[in-house]
Amino acid sequence: MAADVVTVAQLEAWLRRFAELIATHRSELTDLDSAIGDADHGINMDRGMQAVRAKLDTEPPATLDELFKLVGMTLVSSVGGASGPLYGTFFLRFGTACGPQETVSTSDLVKAFRAGVEGLVARGRPELGDKTMFDSLHPALEALDAAISAGLPTHDAFTRTWDAARRGRDDTIPMVARKGRASYLGERSVGHQDPGATSSALLFEAANAVFDG
Ligand code: ADP
Ligand code: MG
Repeated sequence: MAADVVTVAQLEAWLRRFAELIATHRSELTDLDSAIGDADHGINMDRGMQAVRAKLDTEPPATLDELFKLVGMTLVSSVGGASGPLYGTFFLRFGTACGPQETVSTSDLVKAFRAGVEGLVARGRPELGDKTMFDSLHPALEALDAAISAGLPTHDAFTRTWDAARRGRDDTIPMVARKGRASYLGERSVGHQDPGATSSALLFEAANAVFDG
C-alpha cells in the first residue's frame, strides 16, 4: 500500500487504540473533570469507546463511512454528557466526507478531519481559547494539514499532529472556561487542564502509534 493512502483497517486500528488509551486514562480524565466539571468525562468516554469496540467486534465495517458512522452513532447514543454529541458529530461528519470507500488518500483524510471539526464547531460553537476539546483538535488539524501538504510521511505527520494536540491541551490550563459545565466556574477554572482537550489529544497519540508508514 502506498504510504500516502490509508485503509479502513488502519483507521479501525486507530479507533481501537484510542479505546485502549481512553481506558488507560479513564481515571485521569475523570479527575480532571472533577476539578472543573462533574467528574464523569473518563467514565463517559470509556463507556462510549468500549461500546464502539464491542460493535467493531460484531459488525466489522467494510468501508470508511460505515466505520465512522458506527463510531459516531455509538458515541451519540452511549456517552451521556456534552462530549457524546460533540465527538459523535465529529466522527459522523468525518465518515460522510470519506464516503463509501475502503481507502483514502492522506490529503482527503485531512479534508475529512476538517469536516469533522467543522461539524463539532457547528454543534458546540466553541471558539479558540474557550478551554474545550476544540483547543487541541484545531491545532492538531492545522499541523496535520501542514505536514501532509509538505509531503511528510504519514507517521511523521501524525507525530507532529500529536505534538500540536498536546501543546493545545496544555494551553487550556491557564484559560478561563467559556463553554460547557466548566464555564459555570468562571475564573476558578483557571489552572486546570480541560478534560475534553485531554481526551482529544489521545486521538493523536493513538494515530501516532498506529500509522507507522
Ligand atoms: P459534561 O460536561 O456534560 O459532563 P463531559 O464531562 O463528558 O460532559 O465532557 C466535558 C468536555 O466537553 C469539556 O472538557 C469540553 O472539552 C467539552 N465541551 C463541553 N461543552 C463544549 C462545547 N460547547 N464545545 C466544545 N467542547 C465542549
Ligand atoms: Mg463531565
